[in-house]
Amino acid sequence: MLEKDIERTLYSREEIAAKTKELGQKITADYADKTPLVIGILKGAIPFMAELVRDIDVYLEMDFMDVSSYGDALVSSGEVKIVKDLDTNVEGRDILIVEDIIDSGRTLNYLVELFKYRKANSVKLVTLLDKPEGRVVDLTPDYFGFHVPNEFVVGYGLDYKDRYRNLPFVGVLKPEIYESNS
Ligand code: 5GP
Ligand code: MG
Ligand code: MG
Repeated sequence: MLEKDIERTLYSREEIAAKTKELGQKITADYADKTPLVIGILKGAIPFMAELVRDIDVYLEMDFMDVSSYGDALVSSGEVKIVKDLDTNVEGRDILIVEDIIDSGRTLNYLVELFKYRKANSVKLVTLLDKPEGRVVDLTPDYFGFHVPNEFVVGYGLDYKDRYRNLPFVGVLKPEIYESNS
């Protein structure tokens, strides 16, 4: 049913699963002697994080943070507001931030600085998607799944007006979806 709103698929469920497995293996090797605190950024990171942690074979803990950037549905502004903070003290911890997509990089840049300020031992980033053309701050993810072109994508956690997060693949919406007001 959701599929009727999609103009084209960028990455299928199978491609995402295969890539996530690869990332999980790298992370497993890199964190073999650590117990990372894996922090998912709500709500977009949920499907990817759920898959990823099952592909990581080290002791880990999970926590979540919800941040919002003051802006409209399609672009993020520079200011980041903490909507839900962590339950965990990050001091001395090895942090792995999980995101759905890095575009301008502002959200993650803010979080990396915040966790350093809170005295994390290390902070790394893993994102399902990276949109390098959108970058306005100097930030490179330590692990990423796929590069995407400078287009608005949905699915696998990524929303348009809080919908389409449950789409089991990543795709581009039909233009008429933006033009209608439902
Ligand atoms: P940044 O601070 O890197 O510009 O913004 C990252 C956030 O903006 C993402 O976590 C996501 O919520 C949103 N975002 C950026 N690009 C897209 C996109 O193509 N599709 C969707 N659905 N959200 C996006
Ligand atoms: Mg996000
Ligand atoms: Mg969003």
